[in-house]
Amino acid sequence: MTTEATTVGGAQLPGWPLSSAEQAHLTSSVAVPPTMRAVVYPEPNRFEVRDDVPVPPLGPGEALVRVMSTTICATDQKILSGQFPGTRFPHIPGHEFAGEVAAVGPAVDEVQPGDRVGVEVHVGCGRCPRCLEGFYQLCENYGRPEKGHAHIGFTVPGGLAEYALVPIKALHPLPAELTWDQGAFTDNIGIALYAVERGQLRPGESVVVVGPGAFGALAIQVARAMGAGRVIMLGTRPERLARMAGLGADALIAARGKEAVEQVKDSLGGKGADVVVEFAGTADAARQAIQLARRGGRVVLAGATGPGRELSGVDLSTIVRGHLDIYGSLANPKGVSRRGLELIARGAVDVSPLITHHFALADFAAAWDTFVQRRDGAIRVMLHPYTGMAATPR
Ligand SMILES: [Zn+2]
Ligand SMILES: [Zn+2]
Repeated sequence: MTTEATTVGGAQLPGWPLSSAEQAHLTSSVAVPPTMRAVVYPEPNRFEVRDDVPVPPLGPGEALVRVMSTTICATDQKILSGQFPGTRFPHIPGHEFAGEVAAVGPAVDEVQPGDRVGVEVHVGCGRCPRCLEGFYQLCENYGRPEKGHAHIGFTVPGGLAEYALVPIKALHPLPAELTWDQGAFTDNIGIALYAVERGQLRPGESVVVVGPGAFGALAIQVARAMGAGRVIMLGTRPERLARMAGLGADALIAARGKEAVEQVKDSLGGKGADVVVEFAGTADAARQAIQLARRGGRVVLAGATGPGRELSGVDLSTIVRGHLDIYGSLANPKGVSRRGLELIARGAVDVSPLITHHFALADFAAAWDTFVQRRDGAIRVMLHPYTGMAATPR
């Protein structure tokens, strides 16, 4: 893509409504064009790629990020279909991304232009009781930007664009070893790591991960990195499970219902698991997860879910007499992503098997189709907004 760039730091920035004080904070070496290419959802169930989207103006506490790698996930489907209550249309999606800081707003010295950063999606207000506990993903001022809250790619514009405005609270410096594509997993790895930590996994304990998607694949590797004993992956579709080979699971089991519970317990020597982590997001999977734990075990329900999904068919004595700890796990708080990035940098977690496709931002329609239809075993489809190119598939 060729866009005429306007030098920042000089006099004018057509279409970019910055005050002169704000402009002074931009470095003169950085060129930012007035408009950019971005994926736009003008209304629910419709998307387009536009080349005339204004680059957003910088405010205090924010950085403008040149987006290098962005992946899409099932939550983007919910956002597009208008099921996500906090999203207002028109909307720029994209919440799994990494890039380079292009410019910073007033009073920002935590990052500077040229820094490589990964983005975490939840930005809390920092003043409500939940935020003060560190649980900014549970912020009581959700969806209120005037309070300082932002959910990037959900309630505010995201990273399926050449540039994204990101509060610096959500930026994590990328370890030098990480590629842009690996950096795009900043939020994903935080979610997986936090879920396993919710389960209070101790070295040597057995772990069952339910749901052979991207999060399940990360959870297996996190459990391994944390010193788990036997690790089992449970799914329903053999072809999807096959993609989980080589990630550290001792067994990959494709089964449904009671049969699934029996097969997993068989592979654990007839016992339940010390820790079960569910990343499938269905009532079936949640029910299995509870039935798969040993007495006194821990169950983490972390799959993306939505209102209206009910859990039935669980014998309460399984929970009460089974003395189970059952945790819901939403996203990732407390900067967990930063530790997760170290696991990727150290090679303890390999995200490359999850990156199944690459596309240029201009080809978003093809990328979307590939992801939604799960073509060629698609798990994570990577787009490269700033370069305008598609890297070759691995
Ligand atoms: Zn996502
Ligand atoms: Zn808050």
